Amino acid sequence: MQKLGASPIHADILLCILCALPTFEALFATVRASKAFHATYVQHGKRVLNSVAFNYVGPALPLALQVVRYDMHPSPEEFNTGPSDNDYNTDLQIEIKDVYLLVNNAKVVAEWENLFSFRKKDMRHETSQLTSLESWQFRKAMHRLMLYTRLFPTDEYAYCITSNSDCVDLTTKLEKELLTRQEFLSDCFTNELDQLREVATFALEIIRWVDAVDSSDMIASNKDFTDIALSIGPAVILECYKTLGFEPLTETINKLCTDTTPDYFEDKSSRPLLAGYLFKSVSAVLENRVANDHRYVSLKIIDIDTLREEFCSQCGAESYIGGLWGKTTWDYLSLSSQTLGTYLFPSLSMFMKGELHRNPVEIKHVEALLVKTPFKEIYEDIYSKNLKLPAWHDRNDDYWICQACLTQFVKDHLHLWVIMKRKEAKERIANDCWYGYNCRTQVHKLNHAQQLNHLCEPTR
Ligand SMILES: [Zn+2]
Ligand SMILES: [Zn+2]
Repeated sequence: MQKLGASPIHADILLCILCALPTFEALFATVRASKAFHATYVQHGKRVLNSVAFNYVGPALPLALQVVRYDMHPSPEEFNTGPSDNDYNTDLQIEIKDVYLLVNNAKVVAEWENLFSFRKKDMRHETSQLTSLESWQFRKAMHRLMLYTRLFPTDEYAYCITSNSDCVDLTTKLEKELLTRQEFLSDCFTNELDQLREVATFALEIIRWVDAVDSSDMIASNKDFTDIALSIGPAVILECYKTLGFEPLTETINKLCTDTTPDYFEDKSSRPLLAGYLFKSVSAVLENRVANDHRYVSLKIIDIDTLREEFCSQCGAESYIGGLWGKTTWDYLSLSSQTLGTYLFPSLSMFMKGELHRNPVEIKHVEALLVKTPFKEIYEDIYSKNLKLPAWHDRNDDYWICQACLTQFVKDHLHLWVIMKRKEAKERIANDCWYGYNCRTQVHKLNHAQQLNHLCEPTR
């Protein structure tokens, strides 16, 4: 038998296999595993790398490569006139040194896509449910946003432009900078600009959400904050989302301007390069275009026809996309953010049945219990420990309820769950008050509230 890879046909097949591999990890493992594959890779390295990069990144690869090129040559001058310009074709050829950055950026973009799909298309899944066209449009727009934030970064120059420069100089500098931004954007088609705006708006939503969860009031205390955050780029914003706070952002800013501005966010002076950071330039380009182009077509990333109508599983009410609560969103209930709804979990005790929410003794105990228990756990207990009332659906994986029903669900079950927890912990439980949760005396007589149990059905 002929040795593998020795005949031309074998070699072709080996090359096809390498080119079809979905990730660089798979490629490098394959090349290390066999001499024949290794020999093929040595001979056709560039072709293989390009194919695998395309398999991994998808059709947004040309833009992804531009971002990587920028990361390799971070100064804009070098980026625009650097060695890549000598031979434009090699610019779009991936090299082994690009792989690490390419993979890292692609991971960030893929995570953003999951989040976008989860919030804007289908909250049932935490991984992207975008169609291939939607996904391509999203990834292109996200890579473009990455490139924009790299080309026009929030650097020391952006902070210092107002100070120490005379007015004429400042105006010229500003105009020049704005023109450069518009030039970059004017290469895009109109729908690409719309989509860029769409992903940037989504990034802003996430920034606002982090601000609400973090309760740091960064947005309220600094009018440029959202622009600053956007200009730091998608990777850092994603980190803020994942860590539920702005630490990654402030760390990045501090690295950019170590000695000059230690309390950068408290500095209220105007930052003309940051105000309207992306949106102002996109609008300027679009305004020029609309005036002399009647073929203006706006195309959203998500095709509205692919959106399913959402109805509450309990009451049947129609809901907006992402407006229902279920297994993928329980975790958000434990956070004090309003973006996913107006439900503040630690204050869930105010939804306790009857007059319980006004019983000062109970409220204190229940809140202490709620703070350390994620809603997911309470929900699980209600079903697994047979606390569920018959009016509610049996456990079912495709169960999604509206906010009104969620509130009612909590009202119906929270006191049952609390008393169950107390029994489990072998706490001493006082005798039941005849009037149960409807007792009014529990509200204004501390002694009564302390001496009797009200987490029970009324018997009178
Ligand atoms: Zn409902
Ligand atoms: Zn009572």
